Amino acid sequence: MRSWTVFFLFAMGLALSGAELKVAVSIPPLADFVRQVGGDRAEVELLVLPGTDPHIYRIEPVQMRFLAEARLLVVVGLGLEWWLADVLSAAENPGLEVVTTSAGIEAIDGDPHIWLDPLNAVLQVATIREALVRADPAGRLYYEANAARYITELLSLHQEIMERVSRWARKEFVALHGAWAYFAHRYGLEQLAVIVPSPGREPSPMEVAQIIELMRDRGVRAIFVEVQHPPGVAELIAQETGASLVTLDPLGGLPGREDYLSLMRYNLSRMEEALK
Ligand SMILES: [Zn+2]
Repeated sequence: MRSWTVFFLFAMGLALSGAELKVAVSIPPLADFVRQVGGDRAEVELLVLPGTDPHIYRIEPVQMRFLAEARLLVVVGLGLEWWLADVLSAAENPGLEVVTTSAGIEAIDGDPHIWLDPLNAVLQVATIREALVRADPAGRLYYEANAARYITELLSLHQEIMERVSRWARKEFVALHGAWAYFAHRYGLEQLAVIVPSPGREPSPMEVAQIIELMRDRGVRAIFVEVQHPPGVAELIAQETGASLVTLDPLGGLPGREDYLSLMRYNLSRMEEALK
């Protein structure tokens, strides 16, 4: 079949299935959580596209159309969605409920990267389940069963990470961008320093020298960098210290790590290569 025919049949299928609860989400892990719980009762639209940096991403005007008709907007909160107030006023949709999945989670220094601890992900999934039930009470049993099944998978991911990290010889790392504090806190790793403390603020030569000295003192072998950011000065620090650059992905949504479980296993394996 020609691709437009396929597309047409697909669009028809969506129109006929009819059950659509329109849910906008900010980042790929939240899109996966909503799909896991919402299944075919929810239509999910991702706002911060895969491969882009949520700390600086701007919502495109074309994405506003979905928001104008959406019932829920699922976000992390803690300032990650810095565009939220502007987008809400532009959407002019009084029926749109904002679901803040960091509610009830203890933040570490206001850091928004909560989802990188799978036990926080369990709480976020529970918050999403409650929001879907509120918006679509007829789907309650379906959402509850889906959430229960998925939470079991998150808990077995948590077990797997605990077991593997416990065997690693090294527990310390330096990060280009401070996304891994929650993961480190949960699994007994130590984020010794962050090279770029806030988006767009490059470290001074003095700060770079301090990080290099700290890494030499402690024998740190790993610098966590990310697919969303060029490594920049992290490359220089790696050369100076002999540490390896470990390319992680806090967001996913890309081939091979589209869903949260495969994303976290990808990150775990990358870390393991450098720290075991
Ligand atoms: Zn980040």
